[in-house]
Amino acid sequence: MSHIAKTRLTQAQLDAHWMAYSGNRQFKADPRLIVSAEGKYYTDLDGRKIFDGLSGLWTCGLGHSVPAINEAVANQVKTLDYSPAFQYGHEKSFELAEKITQFMPKGLNRVFFTGSGSESVDTALKIARAYWRKKGKGTKVKFIGRAKGYHGASVSGFSVGGIPANRTLYGQGLESYHLPHTQVPGTEFTKGMAEQGKERAEDLINLITMHDASNIAAVIVEPMSGSAGVIVPPQGYLQRLREICDQHDILLIFDEVITGFGRMGAKTGAEAFNVTPDVITLAKQVTNGVIPMGAAVFKQEIYDTFMDNGGADYMLEVPHGYTYSAHPIACAAGLASLEEIQQQNLIERVKEMSPTWEECVHQLKGVSPIITDIRNYGFAAGITIAAVDNEPAKRPFQIAMSMWDKGYYVRYGADTIQLAPPFTTEKSEMDSLINALGDSLKEQH
Ligand code: PMP
Repeated sequence: MSHIAKTRLTQAQLDAHWMAYSGNRQFKADPRLIVSAEGKYYTDLDGRKIFDGLSGLWTCGLGHSVPAINEAVANQVKTLDYSPAFQYGHEKSFELAEKITQFMPKGLNRVFFTGSGSESVDTALKIARAYWRKKGKGTKVKFIGRAKGYHGASVSGFSVGGIPANRTLYGQGLESYHLPHTQVPGTEFTKGMAEQGKERAEDLINLITMHDASNIAAVIVEPMSGSAGVIVPPQGYLQRLREICDQHDILLIFDEVITGFGRMGAKTGAEAFNVTPDVITLAKQVTNGVIPMGAAVFKQEIYDTFMDNGGADYMLEVPHGYTYSAHPIACAAGLASLEEIQQQNLIERVKEMSPTWEECVHQLKGVSPIITDIRNYGFAAGITIAAVDNEPAKRPFQIAMSMWDKGYYVRYGADTIQLAPPFTTEKSEMDSLINALGDSLKEQH
């Protein structure tokens, strides 16, 4: 189906925008243009309703055009549209910081605001290095990430991330090493967490032995890898990472840009898997995607290490921050969004409905022989598709396009189809999403 017919855009306009993470030529030849969104549905240029099967980009768990958020944003624009972020402030940033700590594990209570997930990761990594320097351990500068991990688009993010294409294209990044991912052969089609996680975490000891703890500042992992296609940690894995980090004086950072604020049926992945890291990075759901915003949340001891500098009034404790740190409109959106999650008990809802989602997603098993794995947790699922023509992304792309034509937005990435419906999704909507996906999968063979 071609979607180009109705666009008023000129070729010059289409050409001018170098789109992010997109096949620009393919898109511009056949643009999929969204004109509005309300609740769980987009409307495209053809006036078709399209179910939001990935909550935006894991951003809009509350759905779209949420009245309380819209109102908060509109009021804020009229009252204080921008405030200088350095040395001056506004009340909402402090209110939001405290609100965010209500969602964090105990002890993680110092919130640094950023403008995106990538900036949150960069902040966490920089502060980790600075922390060790403050402690007189300035050689601790390297990082350990994990294969298939995604930690944003910045140089530091792709360095600790585990996506080979980024390395081949962008070359040398920060010096970092990588744990193996936890998508282990033999665990395909596991519902929730697979067993035998502890063993996989022992690889961290090998890396530390090889590179020495005196050189390593932090380990960074997504508690559940999202962009790689929902790779759920096996049982005991994160606990074991925590133990090893403690034994070797290495900070543990959880990148919760996707898992923060309810996606897992828990406030965070840390809560879902019962492991407390030293730092948590956030973005996306904090404002329900309405205004860009991220945050890095630190345990108090890290913050205190910097406050104790005995410096003069005019000295900064940390020369770090962004023009858009604690942007007032983002803070207003964040406060409204998090209050909405609390008031509607949406985290409990996701938890209660997760078994229904799990059953629904796993019904796909057997629908098509090209499905080689299905993984799920909370309101998220990843479906691995067998490669064709040695091109892992080819079929997932075709499936995502076929789903769009059927009125469903899902994401393809690597060799997977990724699903993350809004927190308010009903069983009937889960059923129709999965049925449509079954049909799109069948078209492939
Ligand atoms: N970390 C994780 C775990 C993510 O999933 C993402 C975005 N998908 C990022 C970091 C980067 O966030 P942003 O695109 O807002 O910079």
